[in-house]
Amino acid sequence: MESEDDPVPTGHKRLPDSCVDGERACENCHEPGASMVCANCKVTDIGNICTRYCSRSCQQQGWERHKKTCHDRRRLIRAARVFVSIWDHFQALTYDRNYNFVRSDENGRVIHIACPDLPSALDCAGWTGETIFRPFPGSVVPADVDNDVKRAILHRHTCSDIVDVGRPLVDVILKPLCARILTANVEPKNIAMTTVSKHTGLMSDSHIVLYLELASGERFALDLSGRQYGWQKSIYTWDCFIRHRAQLVSSASLDAANRSLAQSMEASRLAPTDIGRASRDLRCEIAQQVAESINASFRTRQTSVRSFMSQLDDSFSGQVADLISHATVKIQERIHDMTVNRGLGRWYIDMDISGSVKNSVLRDEELAHRMKRVFLTKDDINSIRLKYGDEPHEIAEQKRAADLARLWNERVRECDSLF
Ligand SMILES: [Zn+2]
Ligand SMILES: [Zn+2]
Repeated sequence: MESEDDPVPTGHKRLPDSCVDGERACENCHEPGASMVCANCKVTDIGNICTRYCSRSCQQQGWERHKKTCHDRRRLIRAARVFVSIWDHFQALTYDRNYNFVRSDENGRVIHIACPDLPSALDCAGWTGETIFRPFPGSVVPADVDNDVKRAILHRHTCSDIVDVGRPLVDVILKPLCARILTANVEPKNIAMTTVSKHTGLMSDSHIVLYLELASGERFALDLSGRQYGWQKSIYTWDCFIRHRAQLVSSASLDAANRSLAQSMEASRLAPTDIGRASRDLRCEIAQQVAESINASFRTRQTSVRSFMSQLDDSFSGQVADLISHATVKIQERIHDMTVNRGLGRWYIDMDISGSVKNSVLRDEELAHRMKRVFLTKDDINSIRLKYGDEPHEIAEQKRAADLARLWNERVRECDSLF
């Protein structure tokens, strides 16, 4: 449940929608208050980026200098649009967490989502072997929540996803689509978002964004999980992003963050059944397969990256829509294969030596097939749920959990005797 001590991310500095790189000056004569924008490189649906001029004559005079920037920006924005759409779909379809609070700040923009570690054993659907992959939004999210809130929920606590889970999609979509314009690899950067807790004051949240540096010299931040803070767009010029939203984490703390990420990945191999880790590993597998399929689809279309990226707007949008539906089908196929054919990703009861109950996830196919025969039914669970009603709540819960564990172990033993 939500604790009163939870930091509530309010008070972020955030850009007004009209803010374009913090400046509104003419690109050519640098006079403030420029109101015309270069239509070729402006982006408003996934970012707030554009090049401003005070007049048509300034635009014409400035074109020689602007054209390289304009071309590279246009290409980057297209690549980012494809990548962000596919990433959003991927996150939505492999959504696997129970969130039970959605809250906005007084401006209705900053969003806070609380996620209980795990519901009590009795409320955990996993006893019956239900899959951890559930289509978004789970039953806990009201149907009328708008898309930005849904995305914020998806991106809550998932900024590191782009480093481990999303890596194959970065490699297959983002990098090739902006290959010629980038000066270096697409680099994850750890930054500190400044947030204000109503109890503890100013604090920093570690946040990972992708850093892109173009041959034109321009630098951009692709912020895939900023929606958890109520920031609706995904791409900003780097300077603007840093100035308004974040501080770079020192290289020492970045090293520390990278070490802890490496350790957590190492730990995930040691404890492969943990729900969060198992989910992440299974999603990594799906991302890898989807990336391969997208790669293959590019090859079979015999579309070069150059011609794909230089289409007219309408036909580009059409192709992006095709790519998204292709990716969606692939993701759903992979999830189906994993959960239905291979039995992976189902919650089950795990007992440690002391007899305490843990919730775990199936990652082993042989075990999954054995487990299929012994998962408890909803009736099993409901009959236990009704017991111990006269006892104090906490004691009743403990007794119910023990009964469930006992029943589960009986089933497992029955099952073992079948082999
Ligand atoms: Zn001007
Ligand atoms: Zn332009």
